[in-house]
Amino acid sequence: TEACLTAIEAAGALNAFVHQTPDLALARAAAADDRIAQGDAPAMCGLPIGIKDLFCTKGVPSQAGSRILEGFLPEYESTVSQNLADAGAVMLGKLNMDEFAMGSSNETSVYGNAVNPWRRGNDDTALTPGGSSGGSASAVAADLCLAATGTDTGGSIRQPAAFTGTVGIKPTYGRCSRWGIVAFASSLDQAGPMTKSVRDAAIMLEAMCGHDAKDSTSADIPVPDFEAALTGDIRGKKIGIPKEYRMDGMPDAIEALWQDGIAMMKDAGASIVDISLPHTKYALPAYYVIAPAEASSNLARYDGVRYGHRAKLDQGDGITEMYEKTRAEGFGDEVKRRVMIGTYVLSAGFYDAYYNRARRVRTLIKRDFEQVFAQGIDAILTPATPSAAFGLGEMTDADPVAMYLNDVFTVTVNLAGLPGIAVPAGLDKQGLPLGLQLIGQPWAEADLLNTAHVLE
Ligand code: GLN
Repeated sequence: TEACLTAIEAAGALNAFVHQTPDLALARAAAADDRIAQGDAPAMCGLPIGIKDLFCTKGVPSQAGSRILEGFLPEYESTVSQNLADAGAVMLGKLNMDEFAMGSSNETSVYGNAVNPWRRGNDDTALTPGGSSGGSASAVAADLCLAATGTDTGGSIRQPAAFTGTVGIKPTYGRCSRWGIVAFASSLDQAGPMTKSVRDAAIMLEAMCGHDAKDSTSADIPVPDFEAALTGDIRGKKIGIPKEYRMDGMPDAIEALWQDGIAMMKDAGASIVDISLPHTKYALPAYYVIAPAEASSNLARYDGVRYGHRAKLDQGDGITEMYEKTRAEGFGDEVKRRVMIGTYVLSAGFYDAYYNRARRVRTLIKRDFEQVFAQGIDAILTPATPSAAFGLGEMTDADPVAMYLNDVFTVTVNLAGLPGIAVPAGLDKQGLPLGLQLIGQPWAEADLLNTAHVLE
C-alpha cells in the first residue's frame, strides 16, 4: 500500500486517481496485516486497489466524473466495493472516468482526461487510456495499484483494457450487484475487474460478485471458484469466428492479431468454426438509442435538490430556473447530448420509431448469439477494438459518431447481457498494445477466463 501511494504521487501526470484516501488505505492495510497474522486472510487481503469514481464509497467523494455531483459524500457503500473490502482489499482512492461513464477516451471527465502510460514508439504524443474506465486502466497499467474496478455499459472495461495492455472482464448481466453504482443505462451496466493478468481477474471477480437482494436484477446463482477453473486446458472447445466482425478498413495489425489468436486457440486444441451473427451491424445504432434513453431517465434525479451541485440563483428564480441552471452548469456536453437524444427517442411521437425498434433489434442480436451457442460454440473470438489507443484530442475534434465507432466490437455483448473479456494479445508496429475479445455463454465466466488464459 505504501509503495502504491508513492507511485501515485510520482505519476500525478497520468491523472488516474482523482481522489486519494491514504489514511483509510493505511488503516485498512494495517487491519489486513492483523488478519494475516491471525491466519485469517481472505482472497484479497491487503491488496491495494483503485475504485472507479462511479462506485459510491461511504464518506469518500463519488462524483461519477461529473460537476453535478460536486461535494457528494455517499452515506452508503456500493455492494461491489463492500464485497471487495470484506475480501480484505485496500482502497487507495477513486479513479478517473468519463462523465457518467459516457465516452470512450476519458475526455468527458470533469477532472480532465486520464493519460495512457504507453507511448507510440519514440513519439511523445499523449494517448488516451480509453474510456470510460480510463483512470482504472491507466492506474493498473502504470502499477499504481494491483487492480481496479471498472464498469461496462457498452465496452468501458474492455476497450480501456485493450488500449493499455491490461485484462478486463465484463461479467454476465446480473453477476455483480449494481447497487450503489451510479446508474448510466441500467439494463446494460455491469461492474467488473481490471487487472494485470487473467488470474488476477478471476480472483477479483469472485470477490466482487454474488447475489444481492438490494439489486432486483442481481442473479441468485452460485459463484464458482474462478481461479480453480484456470487449467489452461481448452481441448475440444469450439471457438466461433464471426464474419460480421471483419470490418472494411480494419487496420492490418488488428487482422493479424486476430489470426494470431485463432492460431493460439488451435494450438491449444480448440476447434475454430466460422459463424455468423447477422444483426451485428445494427448493434451500434440500437445501443446509441437504448443507452441514451435509459440515461435520460436515470439522470433526471440530478436536480440540485438531492445531490451535489446547485447553481446560484437570481432574485425571483423559482424551482424551474433552479433545475435548469443547475443542470446546464452541472452536466458536460456529452451528457447533455445523451439526455437530449434519450428524451427525443422516448417522446410520444418517436417512441415506436426509435426506442421500440431498438428494443426489437436488441432481441434479434440476443437471438443471434443464442443460435450460435445452441450449435455448440463455447466462445466467440473477436478483436476488442478497431484500433490501438489514439491521441488525446484526436477524436474529440471529429464528429461524436467517430468516437461512438470505437464501441463497434463491444456493444453487442451488453445488448445480449453476455460475459466478455479483453486480453492483451500483442503490440502494433508502433509498440502499442492490442487486445482480443472473447465472448462467452451466459454465466460461463469460469470457462471464458480459462480460454482467455490461453491467449495470455
Ligand atoms: N463508449 C460507450 C458510451 O459512450 C460505452 C460506455 C460504457 O461502457 N460505459 O456509451
